[in-house]
Amino acid sequence: MNDKNEKITKLPQGKLHVPNFPVIPHIVGDGCGPDIWEASRPVIDAAVQSVYGEERRIVWRELLAGQKAHDTLGTWLPEETMATIRECLVGIKGPLTTPVGGGIRSLNVALRQGLDLYCCVRPVRYFEGIESPVKHPEKVDMVIFRENTEDIYAGIEFIAESAEAYAFYKWLQGEHPERAAKVRFPYSSGYGVKPVSREGTERLVRAAILYALQNNRPSVTLVHKGNIMKFTEGAFRDWGYELAKREFGACPIGKGSSLQLPSGLIIKDCICDAFLQEILLHPADHSVVATLNLNGDYCSDALAAQVGGIGISPGANINYVTGHAIFEATHGTAPDLAGKDVVNPSSFLLSSAMMLRYIGWGQAADALEGAIAKTIALGQVTSDLAEQMSGATMLGTRAFGEAIISHLSV
Ligand code: NAD
Repeated sequence: MNDKNEKITKLPQGKLHVPNFPVIPHIVGDGCGPDIWEASRPVIDAAVQSVYGEERRIVWRELLAGQKAHDTLGTWLPEETMATIRECLVGIKGPLTTPVGGGIRSLNVALRQGLDLYCCVRPVRYFEGIESPVKHPEKVDMVIFRENTEDIYAGIEFIAESAEAYAFYKWLQGEHPERAAKVRFPYSSGYGVKPVSREGTERLVRAAILYALQNNRPSVTLVHKGNIMKFTEGAFRDWGYELAKREFGACPIGKGSSLQLPSGLIIKDCICDAFLQEILLHPADHSVVATLNLNGDYCSDALAAQVGGIGISPGANINYVTGHAIFEATHGTAPDLAGKDVVNPSSFLLSSAMMLRYIGWGQAADALEGAIAKTIALGQVTSDLAEQMSGATMLGTRAFGEAIISHLSV
């Protein structure tokens, strides 16, 4: 069968069909994006080749977005870019400049919303050798499933002292006078709306549970602030537990609200402020984490900092129903370092490993992650990490990529 240059497709049973030479669109990104892409592409290709020889290879297709698109086509996010990702299902991107002024608030948000990428997936693990602020960073091994489309991030806000804010308060006063009376300074308050739905919660929690089952993880923790925000965050917890019972046959265990699936997987919950203590005091007790948008934002960065990996954390935005997924470097464009061959490409490379695993090329993902871990453990790192590691050898972006290639074991 000639399957060169074929697209990845979603089969009716829900699995991805991945040809041996899949077309994968990539966005180079702005600022340090080109430095990262030029160093990373040979590493990703070498990782695939180290496992599959000439049998499999990614056929990269560059798409424009961000400053490069604006400069050449006069638009920040060309329709062709969206259409191609929609068609090819899986893509990867470097960091993009957030346009100042203009119609688009954030390109990343536009991509997530355009493709309804409802899960933000952020694995957090420790790499030996990296300087961490805690005593046992190796105990952190969590995968955060952050809801990506709802919560206060829906962007429904009314600016203080505006006609909109006034009208909103007047409506509240008319319909719910007791609640309106709780607003301390009604005429100088800004207002925000926090939508959290059953469907939005269920699809996120379902994805987290399926991930935990497929990857032999021991537990899923539902992180929320339901003691205060009962009908949004509390509902998230309740809907999550109900889904675990209804779709996965989970049953109560112990005295609390925790459940257990027939496979042994535990579903438990934790209030978000307590969870931020838990990740410092008992990180090994949490494995997969399912949470709302804002909590997920805070927890992702706190956990990444805990393993010293704030600049090298990978991430993906995924719709497990349609199969659409965009893998990305989680840092920004680092304009101060652009074009100097000094930035760290690890965030992009680890996201690439996530992508390889997502398309079923798990051995190549293992090879890539293993080689990155080995390179860092040997103290061969870019300047951002070298500054914190005693006895490290400081490498440029490209040389770091070459070091990783040299550590790929066949
Ligand atoms: P930033 O992440 O670009 O930079 C913060 C600091 O981290 C800087 O000192 C930078 O030099 C350093 N840094 C970032 N990435 C690095 C890397 N790979 N290696 C070494 N050092 C690195 O954040 P910012 O300055 O707030 O944002 C700059 C631009 O990037 C803005 O336009 C912002 O909107 C955008 N941004 C994009 C994304 C994205 O596309 N996912 C994310 C965050 C910010």
